[in-house]
Formats: sequence, C-alpha cells, structure tokens
Amino acid sequence: MPEVACSNHVGLMEDKMKKIKRNRWTKEEIKYLKENYKVTFYSDIAKCLGRTHDAVTSMATKIGLKSCKRNRPKEQGGDRNDNWKGGISKNNYHYKKIQVKRYPKRVRARGAVYDALKNFVLHKPTICEKCKKTFGKCKIEGHHKDYDKPLDVNWLCARCHRKADKIMVDKA
Ligand SMILES: [Zn+2]
Repeated sequence: MPEVACSNHVGLMEDKMKKIKRNRWTKEEIKYLKENYKVTFYSDIAKCLGRTHDAVTSMATKIGLKSCKRNRPKEQGGDRNDNWKGGISKNNYHYKKIQVKRYPKRVRARGAVYDALKNFVLHKPTICEKCKKTFGKCKIEGHHKDYDKPLDVNWLCARCHRKADKIMVDKA
C-alpha cells in the first residue's frame, strides 16, 4: 500500500514540476520581450507568447525594463486615443490669458482660495459636505457659489462639485 501512495506522490510532484516548467520563461521569450517592449504593447507580447498581460508586466519589471506609457493594457493612452489633441498646448499661457479675460472673477476667486489654503486661512476637510463621504485631500474641491465672495466655498467631492456647478449653470 505505501508503495502506491509513494508513486502517486511522485506523480503529483512531476505534474507540479511540469507546471512550473511550462510557466518558466525561456531565454527566447525574454529576448523577445526585451526586443519588443518598446515598440509593441505588453498585451500584444502577451498574446504572442501565450501569457497573461500580468505575467508579461511582472517579468518586465523583474528584468528591469522600464514600462512606458505605450504599454498601457487598454491601448487607449495618449496618441492612441481618438480624443488626443496632441498633449498640452504649446499655447497654454495664451489660453490662460483668455480665461483671465473671460472669467476674471472666477480666476481671481480660485487664486484667492489657493492662497488661503497655502497660508492656512482656509482648511480643506477630507469629507464632502454634500454626500458626507470621506476622500483623499486632493479629491476635495472648493465650490464657489458666488465668485464675489472668494473665500466662501463649499468643500465638495468632484462628483458633487460637478452637480453643483450644473445646477448653477441651469439657474443662470
Ligand atoms: Zn460628494
């Protein structure tokens, strides 16, 4: 009886070894990854090698390949996206000036809040005043009901802020 059990055990071990062997990266695969990670998406490499995207990514980090934006799994990053307009405009300052000209109060009010936060005049909470949910500090935004009162702000999460702004626009 013990012999059978033993041979079974060995069989299991062999199966396990086979599995590990199958998953281990061959030199050719690593070479392929090294040669192609800059020009091809990780997902394409994964398809080509018959591995998961995660496996390819972790191997890439393991051998020290620095992933660039082009390796995003969704393949919609940057210039691959239909909405891509060529990155931040080189005329950024020009557009800023237009904003100041068009909405002077808004720009001034935002600047005032920014300064007040920097000088600890205002304190930014971590809870949205409307939905009472807790967020990270960077996710809470100051909502102006009236740009004439620059320091009179409601602290809202992005979602509530969007809603609040919409209500304001609809009223106006
Ligand atoms: Zn909220």
